[in-house]
Amino acid sequence: MRIAIYPGSFDPLTNGHLDVIQRAAKLFDRVIVAVAKNESKHPLFTLNERVALVKKAVAQLPNVEADSFDGLLVEYVASRGAKAIVRGLRAVSDFEFEFQLALMNRKLDENIETIFMMPKDTYTFLSSRIVKEIARLGGEVSQFVPPNVQTALTKKLKPAKKFKV
Ligand code: ADP
Repeated sequence: MRIAIYPGSFDPLTNGHLDVIQRAAKLFDRVIVAVAKNESKHPLFTLNERVALVKKAVAQLPNVEADSFDGLLVEYVASRGAKAIVRGLRAVSDFEFEFQLALMNRKLDENIETIFMMPKDTYTFLSSRIVKEIARLGGEVSQFVPPNVQTALTKKLKPAKKFKV
């Protein structure tokens, strides 16, 4: 059984992430989307919310599941019996950080390989940060995220009620 872990903050999941997940699901017997706790990044969605959003969005993909982890990624990967880490590469700007991360993970555990996947070209400009920014400003994000994520964003970023004084 070839198992791959796709780790990330997924705050929230975008269509770019989904594209990578679908591609990985064709290459591996099982893909585990592992949502990192990442409290230091001050995520908009809680860990449980981020996992639930991924779970719903991948419900149609039989060999994909969602999970969460905290701590060292390589330890989590080994604990799930996986041999590969999947990461997405959008542009050259992603490369330096991802390269460093992949080599560090290899130093920590020689047995785990990092696989890089390129999304469909229309998703190369997409990031969770940009999607949150657009949603915060009241922009339309339906073409960038799955429908359940769009609903969650609208709910989370609903402007506070204004009171007349
Ligand atoms: P992290 O905080 O670990 O970077 P992200 O949720 O931002 O978590 O991203 C997880 C992974 O998905 C990273 O490898 C990132 O490069 C990749 N990724 C993010 N957005 C896209 C996209 N639009 N297309 C392809 N890969 C992406």
